[in-house]
Amino acid sequence: MKNIGFKFENTYAKLPDILATKLVPVPVKKPKLIIFNNRLAKDLGLDVNSVSEDDLTNLFSGNKLPTGSEPLAQAYCGHQFGHFVMLGDGRAIVLGEHLTPSGKRIDIQFKGSGRTPYSRSGDGRAALGPMLREYIISEAMHGLNIPTTRSLAVVATGEMVQREVALQGAVLTRVASSHLRVGTFQYLAARQDIKSLKELVSYTIKRHYPEFINSKNQALELLRIVIKKQAYLIAEWMRVSFIHGVMNTDNMTISGETIDYGPCAFMDYYDPKTVFSSIDLHGRYAFGNQPNIAEWNLARFAESILPLFDLDNKKAVSIAEQEINNFKDIFKNNFTKMMKGKLGLISNEIEDDKLMKDLFQLMFENEADYTNTFVYLMNGSVPQEELIKDKNFIEWKNKWNSRLSRNQDIIKAKELMTKNNPIIIPRNHLIESALSKAEQGNLDEFNKLILALKDPYKDNGQYTGLKNPAPQSEKKYQTFCGT
Ligand code: AMP
Ligand code: MG
Repeated sequence: MKNIGFKFENTYAKLPDILATKLVPVPVKKPKLIIFNNRLAKDLGLDVNSVSEDDLTNLFSGNKLPTGSEPLAQAYCGHQFGHFVMLGDGRAIVLGEHLTPSGKRIDIQFKGSGRTPYSRSGDGRAALGPMLREYIISEAMHGLNIPTTRSLAVVATGEMVQREVALQGAVLTRVASSHLRVGTFQYLAARQDIKSLKELVSYTIKRHYPEFINSKNQALELLRIVIKKQAYLIAEWMRVSFIHGVMNTDNMTISGETIDYGPCAFMDYYDPKTVFSSIDLHGRYAFGNQPNIAEWNLARFAESILPLFDLDNKKAVSIAEQEINNFKDIFKNNFTKMMKGKLGLISNEIEDDKLMKDLFQLMFENEADYTNTFVYLMNGSVPQEELIKDKNFIEWKNKWNSRLSRNQDIIKAKELMTKNNPIIIPRNHLIESALSKAEQGNLDEFNKLILALKDPYKDNGQYTGLKNPAPQSEKKYQTFCGT
């Protein structure tokens, strides 16, 4: 088969053997291409027009391997809901690192590609609905300008997978700047393999943060930069009301990209306690708890590379603690900057913090739609909200308006708001509806959503039906879990 333009290198395969198992995807019976991301393919330098659809289908189902790939399943551990577990790619295979025309190194990974030595009791497969869900939400996150893994293709396998009911199987092709995660480091730490840990830190610095190649303490620089990346990422999630749902340490990347779209969702009505995963019984991963959990995960990361900070354990602990303690301030700065962007506030005033807190309180009391509240403030479009009739809100809005008018440049303020307040987000009820139709072979709604979510900050008047939250009466049905 003709090469569609993949240029593979396989540097991960050269790391210590215990970090991965080399194996190929398990072939599937009757693959059918469901969706292919032509725009992304073009950005990656792939020319799919030169091959037939059959070839593409075989390629992205794992039935035919591209030249140059040295497929492997990665080993890792993770704290799942706070409990430490040995994991690894139980249903994923990394084909290798593709070098894009612009010189970027990215992992090409299949998800749902069959059993591996890390599968435990799992079948190694994935169902079509959840893979299409990852496809659409990851692409939506990209459209929202939030660091994320991307989705290149979904192929139905022609095989059924048994979950609570039998579902159609599928393979998702995921594109990521790497699949290094907190759990990868935890895996080596659990084995007390300091030599490999050192090697992995150097590898990570070289791959993601080459500015620290000559640093005397690469591990410390790595911890600092990962803290920064995550503090930025979580604030960005909260900007668009995103709830990851399973912020386990194996689902936290070292690159700072959002990864693993399982039971995630965008919050409609503002309530910081909102959870979407039906297995998250204690609200560990609730909307408002995400910064705390990020800090907790980062502490686990620091622990895992502790011996590399200093040979003296006491000193190493104190270094790690100091860095982790910075997370709160770094996050708060990012969050404040982000919220000020949403409100169009350019300069700094002492009362700004209170202005933001008061708005959150009013949104909470009125069960206001998070996205539409900011759209209303931005362009006056009238949402069906109790909030805008609340006299306390009207008072708040007057205060905000006079605060805005003290800004030097009102045009800049508007630009800032336009950049920070999406008009369209992938609302859960829309996604669910599009997915259930897509599972029956009708991708019209799915494709329409994909199109709308490409440019979520622009209102071209076409997508009025996509702007409203699910009716309040359906609110309690929003808990969702799908992987
Ligand atoms: P996730 O919740 O998707 O992050 O997955 C957690 C762990 O379970 C990872 O190690 C996955 O590889 C593994 N896993 C999830 N689903 C399956 C499956 N169907 N078969 C084997 N392993 C799985
Ligand atoms: Mg995962």
